[in-house]
Amino acid sequence: MQLRHPLVGLSSCLGGQKVRYDGTDKRDDGLLAELDLFADLVPLCPEVAIGLGVPRAPIQLNVLEDGRLRVRGVADPSLDVTEDLQAYAEACLPLFEQLDGYVFKARSPSCGPRGVLRVHGDGREDEQGRGYFAGFVRRHFPLMPLADEDALADPGRMAAFERYVKAYFDYHHAGEEMNDGASRGLRADRDWRRDPGR
Ligand code: SF4
Repeated sequence: MQLRHPLVGLSSCLGGQKVRYDGTDKRDDGLLAELDLFADLVPLCPEVAIGLGVPRAPIQLNVLEDGRLRVRGVADPSLDVTEDLQAYAEACLPLFEQLDGYVFKARSPSCGPRGVLRVHGDGREDEQGRGYFAGFVRRHFPLMPLADEDALADPGRMAAFERYVKAYFDYHHAGEEMNDGASRGLRADRDWRRDPGR
């Protein structure tokens, strides 16, 4: 008998913690109610964890002329927290290995899993970035279900995310061999994973 629920990481501000740069939260009661039906949530705020206070100066993704990605202050580019975010993410690896999914805050330079503003060295801007912390999770756990609150506001996408988290949970806890049920579940959600809107 399955005694444990999937463990899903959550951007702390979505859970109601007042950790945003301006001292507010982004509590999403509908999201939390849906996630509570099938997962235990693990809130993390990487920006607070690396010692940035609340409130704090906002940061953004900068793409340097040589293509390197940095996370720097919007008003003061000498504030560069890239290495701190990298070190924190590396310290979280043992925790990430326990997670069966992650729900990130959309558009955050740390947490956003897609569509994050990037400012290039020549002044160009685009919204093709991925938050630095979210990008670390994706690189190290390419099969882990990741989503943001915007995607999960759609009931169909929430249902697909739940299926995929459960399949990943089965896979994750099935030992070395992926069991047939998990394999079927992962295949069933393959199209959802490929959808750039997730
Ligand atoms: S988006 Fe991420 S870094 Fe920003 S306040 Fe929320 S949890 Fe913290």
